[in-house]
Amino acid sequence: MKPTHQNSVYISEIFSSAQGEGVNIGRRQLFVRFCECHRNCIYCDTPIERTNTIAIEYDPGSGVFGAIPNPVSVEQLLEILDEMNGAEFAHDDLFITGGEPLLQSDFLETFLPTARTQLNLPVHLETSGDLTESFAKIADQIDHVLMDIKLPSVTGEPETWELHQTFLREIKKKEIGTTIKLVISADTSDADLAESVELITATDICAHVVLQPMTAALKTDRVPTAKQVLNWQSQMARAIGQNVRIIPQCHKLMGLL
Ligand code: SF4
Repeated sequence: MKPTHQNSVYISEIFSSAQGEGVNIGRRQLFVRFCECHRNCIYCDTPIERTNTIAIEYDPGSGVFGAIPNPVSVEQLLEILDEMNGAEFAHDDLFITGGEPLLQSDFLETFLPTARTQLNLPVHLETSGDLTESFAKIADQIDHVLMDIKLPSVTGEPETWELHQTFLREIKKKEIGTTIKLVISADTSDADLAESVELITATDICAHVVLQPMTAALKTDRVPTAKQVLNWQSQMARAIGQNVRIIPQCHKLMGLL
């Protein structure tokens, strides 16, 4: 596929912190949060609009942010990350998140090959797991995918099972390390869990599976009970024949970004 060379992009935040979600929890990562998202999950806790400036926490954990104007070029972004990675030498990975970073796949296609070489860090991608064509353009540059299977009973959105299925097939084809995350709330339906099991088993993908109990957000406080979460864990683990982990959003417990 021919790269389209998008050379600038809108980013909302850049910071250095410990990963708070999924099986890579605790790894020290350099976070780049891209603006914009095509979804509208009811539990969303992330500002997704384009911002005029990028908030950059140069001193990790300080809560003090510098601001530089959006959009930024590949070269500008690399310079910022290089500086932060050099100052904070203990990074394990570069973590690309959003919003939905795959909406910027044209930019990532240009940015990631140089970033990998220059920063010398594995690249982890967090995605809603439904934009396969965009993902395919950059898959060779990704070391780990943290992808969602979005449950309509939880997100309040229409179902996107087919899109997740196609995405899972692409990951399997590329043999990329993967964590599949299902955000669950008190409203999680058995039908949605059964559909998720079907997707995972039909793809025969080797991936970590994580149930992430929803954190109360602005538009919903339908946090699941302990009994619900444990029941769903047993139900899913039995159905897919592998370990299913319950991991909440730990960065929020620790007061981290
Ligand atoms: S996919 Fe993520 S960023 Fe987008 S609306 Fe849903 S929770 Fe928010």
